[in-house]
Amino acid sequence: MTKLTLDDLDVHGKRVLVRVDFNVPLREHGSQDLVVSDDTRIRAALPTIKTILQRGGRAILMSHLGRPKGRPDTRFSLVPVASHLERMLGENVQFLPKIGDLAAGATENRVVLLENTRFSPGEKSNDPEFAARLARLGDVFVNDAFGTAHRAHASNAGITRHLTQAAAGYLLEREITILGHALAAPEAPFVAVLGGAKVSDKMGVITNLLDKVDALLIGGAMSYTFLKATGSPVGASLVETDRLGEANGMLRTSKGKLQLPEDHIVADAFDNNARTKTASSAIPEGWMGLDIGPATRAAYGRIIRGARTVVWNGPMGVFEMPAFAAGTQAMAEALVATTNAGGLTIVGGGDSVAAVKQGGYADAVTHVSTGGGAMLAFLEGRELPGLAALTEKE
Ligand code: AMP
Repeated sequence: MTKLTLDDLDVHGKRVLVRVDFNVPLREHGSQDLVVSDDTRIRAALPTIKTILQRGGRAILMSHLGRPKGRPDTRFSLVPVASHLERMLGENVQFLPKIGDLAAGATENRVVLLENTRFSPGEKSNDPEFAARLARLGDVFVNDAFGTAHRAHASNAGITRHLTQAAAGYLLEREITILGHALAAPEAPFVAVLGGAKVSDKMGVITNLLDKVDALLIGGAMSYTFLKATGSPVGASLVETDRLGEANGMLRTSKGKLQLPEDHIVADAFDNNARTKTASSAIPEGWMGLDIGPATRAAYGRIIRGARTVVWNGPMGVFEMPAFAAGTQAMAEALVATTNAGGLTIVGGGDSVAAVKQGGYADAVTHVSTGGGAMLAFLEGRELPGLAALTEKE
């Protein structure tokens, strides 16, 4: 890492302004109070927060949650997160509904959490004035939000112009180090597994990875755009027709590294209770491919088990429906086997991470990334504004 990290800062007696990723799922509880339903992202930020406190600093935390439209919206308030964090830390967390309040009422609390940064329109527009107001709450800045590192917003990019030191927290550092290692010096064979709905989201990633990997395994709905491009019948499967030419070009230049499913679980409707069957290669009229088939599961599984480095983003099928979850589950199991054999395995993207957790495998792979879009941007070789904005090491 060429950027300052938390260990480079002297935080003693300082107000450390930390951009965390507390964009966690909430659910209703009892009398419609919202509670945190998955605290993985909060847990992931604890090492940074605890270190700041242990070293005598105060942690002023800020995050976004969900997609409020640049104004307050109680559905996206961080109040439930503040209570949850209090329990996890075992100490008071002062909640700050408005930024100005902290300057007005000086506090002795060691931990402060600001209300959702996206309640202000200045957050997403990276407004310099809003960034300056945030910056006045702290003496130094730490970014520990990998999940938003691919966005140039006020709380993770603009803010760094107003503070002399901006460093990466432990989580951001770990994400960048592991992903960076996988891209720059992967132990071979290096295999990437890409799935999900849209090929258009992943074209850049595929292009950048093809140079580096030994095999790139495609699954999910995006396979059908590629298969159609080869002339294979795909029935009623999801296809991005405006991407067929690009998909075809990619297949031609991929030197055989890009692999497509050889069979499919097809259904006569997009429904867990639909009629299903296995289709080898050609998908009949009126049927849609909703998961990779058993031969593909076995073939992809073998390639993953034989790999030393694996990066996976995107489900192999409509894994939310049990009838079409086997392909995704099989990939998770193969990654676990590779990990057990000493390989480096990385999983990212909300759906693949959910699948890994569903199977109870989250601790059985090397790294579960907290970023979906950020991970894809990194794999695409794009500069991450949240990282670029940090202070260079001397
Ligand atoms: P993405 O956000 O691009 O990673 O796509 C994830 C979504 O793709 C999940 O909600 C899956 O249900 C969906 N998906 C995966 N495979 C298929 C498929 N064969 N047909 C339709 N949707 C799919």
